[in-house]
Amino acid sequence: MIAFTRILFSLLLMLLVLVGGVHANNDHALKVVTTTTQATDLTRILAGEGADEWVQITPLMGAGVDPHLYQPTEANIAAMSQADLVIYSGLHLEGQFDTVFEALGERNVRVYALSDPVKAAGFVIGGFTLSEELTNVDDPHFWFDPRNWQLAAEGLVEVLSEVDPAHADVYAANADAYIADLDTLYTWALEAMSQVPEQQRTLVTSHDAFQYFGAAFGWNVRGLQGISTEDEAGVADIQNIARFVMDNGIPVMFVESSVPPDAIEAVREAVNAGGGQVGLGVRQLY
Ligand SMILES: [Zn+2]
Repeated sequence: MIAFTRILFSLLLMLLVLVGGVHANNDHALKVVTTTTQATDLTRILAGEGADEWVQITPLMGAGVDPHLYQPTEANIAAMSQADLVIYSGLHLEGQFDTVFEALGERNVRVYALSDPVKAAGFVIGGFTLSEELTNVDDPHFWFDPRNWQLAAEGLVEVLSEVDPAHADVYAANADAYIADLDTLYTWALEAMSQVPEQQRTLVTSHDAFQYFGAAFGWNVRGLQGISTEDEAGVADIQNIARFVMDNGIPVMFVESSVPPDAIEAVREAVNAGGGQVGLGVRQLY
């Protein structure tokens, strides 16, 4: 009986130590906040399975959220100000975060843009906004070229290893595997795209998010809105795209998962009104 009590007691103690241990671990975990789903995915992949014990990743935006328009909430700002590292996409993709990022920098929170190595390598392309027809605004949608995303992975593995040197080997191994996967993806996509006849490689979509995709895989890309969804398409923009669709005999346009379909619907109506015909892709573009 005494033996049993002793075993029970030691089990209870072990449980308390375990609970306490988990608690202490979480308090000491590396706190990382990520903005977009892409930033979250990349961070999770580099941290790898089982990293929950030493990295606490807090994603701010869910799937289908428009990062151009997303306003950080008070809870988001609190999470970022308590973080060891904030990872964002950059090139003003998170258009409503600029002042918050500045304030975090002043509070010595490390804030890192995944686009940094892409910009440094000279692979950022220019885009236009509807409000100002500038051609030298940085287009933030760099991840649509898998080779750019490889650079982003290389950059992030360096930052994670600086902030958390104890797990540098883990980050490096996961990054190597992922970069190899992206090689496979790029080769596969190149082969898949080559099956579309060259004269048919035109993509018409809601906003100008696919220029990097177009450059990587040889597509002519036309977005109704500019590189940011902040500007709404006007009547003239809708007429211009409708004219383009009719002139080029484009059979199908694509709606994006994070942009309301209204504007593309308006293009379709304009095409119909002009005596043309155009359909919408059965799948949304992410
Ligand atoms: Zn966009």
